Amino acid sequence: MSMNLYWFQLGGCGGDTMSLLGAEDPNPLECMESLGIEVLWHPSLSTLTAGRHAVLLDRLASGRQELDILCVEGAVVRGPGGSGMYDTFNCKPKKDIVAALARCAAYVVAVGTCASYGGIGAGGAVEATGLQFSKWTKGGFLGERFTGRSGVPVVNLAGCPAQGEVILSVISALAGGRTLELDEYHRPLPWYGMLVHQGCTRNEYHEYRIEEKEFGEKGCLFFYKGCHGPLVYGPCNKLLWNRRSSKTRVGVPCFGCTRPDFPQEYPFFETRSIEGVPRELPNGVKRAHYMAYKGMAAAAAPERLKERKTEI
Ligand code: SF4
Repeated sequence: MSMNLYWFQLGGCGGDTMSLLGAEDPNPLECMESLGIEVLWHPSLSTLTAGRHAVLLDRLASGRQELDILCVEGAVVRGPGGSGMYDTFNCKPKKDIVAALARCAAYVVAVGTCASYGGIGAGGAVEATGLQFSKWTKGGFLGERFTGRSGVPVVNLAGCPAQGEVILSVISALAGGRTLELDEYHRPLPWYGMLVHQGCTRNEYHEYRIEEKEFGEKGCLFFYKGCHGPLVYGPCNKLLWNRRSSKTRVGVPCFGCTRPDFPQEYPFFETRSIEGVPRELPNGVKRAHYMAYKGMAAAAAPERLKERKTEI
């Protein structure tokens, strides 16, 4: 079955588009072609004139032309004072256009954390929100009960940015009629069902509590450097960026960009601790158990790890 796709940019940095364009093997154009998806509009892939684009948008938003997949990048900007006039297309608030498009589309995909949960502008002067969530709270711009024509709620591809391979894989799954299992924050489980920590090459250091206090030492980044790997779900250590690497593999802590509260209101490169133990512990772990276990693990650490000889 052939489908069409329209990509709408709202309040964001364009990083998800950059990420999409970086996908390779297949690249976005080959992928869409092989799936039989007609890209009606994408700001970096389309050559329609401004006038023709405006006509197309009007036809889609009014339902005169059927829309299958709507991809939204960036947060819905509602300011100032709920008018949406901080972010417009042809003098119309984009928030009104995206509401009309979403009502007509079979599937709505929020690409990136801003479109999913509001991201950096949420709760601020621009009155930004995600399509179906505002940070952790369900509802967002379209409302708790919203579904596309297909009956599927907004599919959230969290990440700052979302990975190109994830974007294409999800579009491919929708085009193939596959049912996507979503978690409670509407992230598809095949890509967001594992912690960033799982698959990190520093895991053995974490296990025995060999920590990095200074960047560049070999060790785990959880205890001092603010790593969110054991706290957040995302594909970064499963589907490597550029098929090559991830933040934690090159010594940068995971910032937790797939979590609905990203960006958090505390520094990225520090772990907030209570008596030397991270305030936020790995999901589901009890503090007393964790302290006892980590104390014993540190005492049992093998020499090769203490000497930081294990490659990362
Ligand atoms: S660096 Fe982060 S993701 Fe890697 S093992 Fe440590 S806590 Fe886990």
